[in-house]
Amino acid sequence: MEPTSNPIYSQHVAVIGAGAAGLITARELLREGHTVVVFEREKEVGGLWIYSPKTESDPLSLDPNRSIVHSSVYDSLRTNIPRESMGVRDFPFLPRFDDESRDPRRYPNHREVLAYLQDFAREFKIEEMIRFETEVVRVEPVDGKWSVQSKKSGDSSNDEIFDAVVVCSGHYTEPNVAHIPGIKSWPGKQIHSHNYRVPGPFENEVVVVIGNFASGADISRDIAQVAKEVHIASRASESDTYKKLPVPHNNLWIHSEIDTAHEDWSIVFKNGKVVYADSIVYCTGYKYHFPFLETNGYLTIDENRIEHLYKHVFPPALAPGLSFIGLPAMGIQFVMFEIQSKWVAAVLAGRVKLPSQDKMIEDINSWYASLHALGLPKRYTHKLGKIQSEYLNWIAEECGCPLVEHWRNQQIVRGYERLVSQPETYRDEWDDNDLMEEAYEEFGRNKLISKNGFSSFQG
Ligand code: FAD
Repeated sequence: MEPTSNPIYSQHVAVIGAGAAGLITARELLREGHTVVVFEREKEVGGLWIYSPKTESDPLSLDPNRSIVHSSVYDSLRTNIPRESMGVRDFPFLPRFDDESRDPRRYPNHREVLAYLQDFAREFKIEEMIRFETEVVRVEPVDGKWSVQSKKSGDSSNDEIFDAVVVCSGHYTEPNVAHIPGIKSWPGKQIHSHNYRVPGPFENEVVVVIGNFASGADISRDIAQVAKEVHIASRASESDTYKKLPVPHNNLWIHSEIDTAHEDWSIVFKNGKVVYADSIVYCTGYKYHFPFLETNGYLTIDENRIEHLYKHVFPPALAPGLSFIGLPAMGIQFVMFEIQSKWVAAVLAGRVKLPSQDKMIEDINSWYASLHALGLPKRYTHKLGKIQSEYLNWIAEECGCPLVEHWRNQQIVRGYERLVSQPETYRDEWDDNDLMEEAYEEFGRNKLISKNGFSSFQG
């Protein structure tokens, strides 16, 4: 790790979660000279990437009393962006040819991502700061500081005071279930992708998969290997869409949205087609959910918009003591965690200043107004789409760290185009070797290949 610069302030900071965001944040806080405690309710690091065959008792995850399974990873999952773009900038996600248990592919499986995060935690000695099997149950502001109540399994709860809290608890655990008119009388099985692991339970069934983005595209093809028929309902498609997709078993169709469901097992699509289905799989995304936060109404969630977050990180009335890492949906998640957490660490150290509360609110309101002018509903607030690199570069400039590389931005753009045009093959057939070469040249120039100990790297 680089030597710590002289901080103006060293703060005592609680980080909630030891997934990718929590690990990266802990490292940046340390680099800036803060003391850090990471709370993690699981037994190990990795968050979402810890695959578990276990699922929740309620397949739609609607029961508030269900016991939570954190991960939404399914067995066949491979990354949806290439490893060069996915890794942290000074600790690239390189293939490990020296270890047979590792997956060296450009779009590796989920076990490889977990192994990378374990490597990261080891390299930067993050585990020493983590309290495993310790769930944060309540966080609230008290006299300018933050009270954090946590509970270790089997023990009574523990209250501590911190100068600041950084929330890195993830947002792919609380399912969003699309409403279908008539669904109450439809007798089939319903499951959210959060509880999908393997295709076996859908053998010989007729299955409707709702949603055709990353998870929907993957899961529909996974199930099509064993099911009789799979029908994708896609909100992004024109209302008359009805098309057979090229898969080995010739049993996958894409439709427009669902119109209604009926008690005779039929599902009627907006294109007029009727399918008698055994199961529905909802790949309809997730909701932001922070059950431990008690902010006296300063922070609310409305239609999946977290009301009033400056640059999706700081709530003006509670800044800089409370911050969030990883909320926007975008291609390069780990690099976003890195840049956002460098900013939080620098602001907490007093090295970088936030604008006044009024100015922050003004900025948030102008973002809301721009969404409104485009006719976009509130739930789009944290979806950055094409402006993701502009957003990250703004923060990078603010805290004096390098901007997002050209090759990384372009890999995301070209990868997304391939995902749309060749969803079956985009992970194994690509046309951006030029960008891959640019990435590895940069890793070599910055001596990151040998630094990370991947001495048998052959790329
Ligand atoms: P998580 O990994 O969810 O970690 C949050 C951690 O917080 C967990 O360990 C959890 O146990 C802990 N926690 C939560 N609440 C508490 C509490 N109260 N107390 C203590 N601990 C708590 N991104 C990519 O870059 N590439 C991909 O290919 C990719 N594929 C994806 C596929 C799927 C199916 C999904 C859902 C997401 C994918 N993502 C991908 C995005 C992914 O979310 C990020 O890559 C990243 O891993 C999220 O990290 P996180 O730390 O924000 O959250």
